[in-house]
Amino acid sequence: FDQRDGVIWFNGALTPWREAKLHVLSHGLHYASAVFEGERAYGGKIFKSREHSERFRRSAQLLDFEIPYSVAELEAAKDAVVKANGMQDCYVRPIAWRGSEMMAVAAQNSTIHTAIAVWDWPSMFDVETKMKGIRLDIAEYRRPDPRTEPSLAKAAGLYMICTISKHRAERRGYADALMYDWLGRVAECTGANVFFVKDGALHTPIADCFLDGITRQTVIELAKRRGVAVFERRIMPEELTGFSECFICGTGAEVTPVSEAGPYRFEPGALSRQLIEDYTRETHRHSEG
Ligand code: PMP
Repeated sequence: FDQRDGVIWFNGALTPWREAKLHVLSHGLHYASAVFEGERAYGGKIFKSREHSERFRRSAQLLDFEIPYSVAELEAAKDAVVKANGMQDCYVRPIAWRGSEMMAVAAQNSTIHTAIAVWDWPSMFDVETKMKGIRLDIAEYRRPDPRTEPSLAKAAGLYMICTISKHRAERRGYADALMYDWLGRVAECTGANVFFVKDGALHTPIADCFLDGITRQTVIELAKRRGVAVFERRIMPEELTGFSECFICGTGAEVTPVSEAGPYRFEPGALSRQLIEDYTRETHRHSEG
């Protein structure tokens, strides 16, 4: 992935892709002092760009560092890198990390580096393919107690159990894994939030020990706009037998229906289809506006 054409915005300058490198003694690599974002551009325009930039800066603050660029500077940088790579529909990855000046747990005086890369990540637009639903494994690891980590940060370190869980799920033939939280309640997937449908209403876990996704917030807004009731509440796995539909959502996944999660079965249906259409319209309306 490092040997290709294109440019990466790196500490304020558009840098050739192959030259955007960091030192092996970077604190971010050793101690996970790194935060990132995941965004999508539609028609050359990043969806909810400002919300992502704000979360990016907030994530860094939760890890006790400040990204040395304002929201406005990050907005301009993201637009510049999308444009410089000639992209229309793409994935956008800002990342910030502590540099190599202090190689110990304490690293207050390290330089904060910031980079923004973009690449192709086609979305699964075909509604009929999506409506088949994906299969979810149940993860072995649980989302930790929010008192044990800054759960609401999009921090590199919090992805360790996600990568392990995703690998295990794929090895076992599943698309992804559903993660429970430290109390055994349904939480989210390894890179997306989860929703369930019952009697025409949406039910989703309270986002207090995992990322309150920008897509999750968008889906809640779209559902409410249609007059669909949304319940953010504690959901125990045993309850999953009572839900008719299930879908996951995130910047990468967009809205993707689920056909099974461990022993539980779902039938992708009318509300999932409606929200796929609404989300597609919303992301495209935004790029035209
Ligand atoms: N949870 C996790 C663990 C994620 O990685 C993501 C993707 N960033 C989400 C939820 C969804 O967040 P968003 O809708 O902001 O992309």
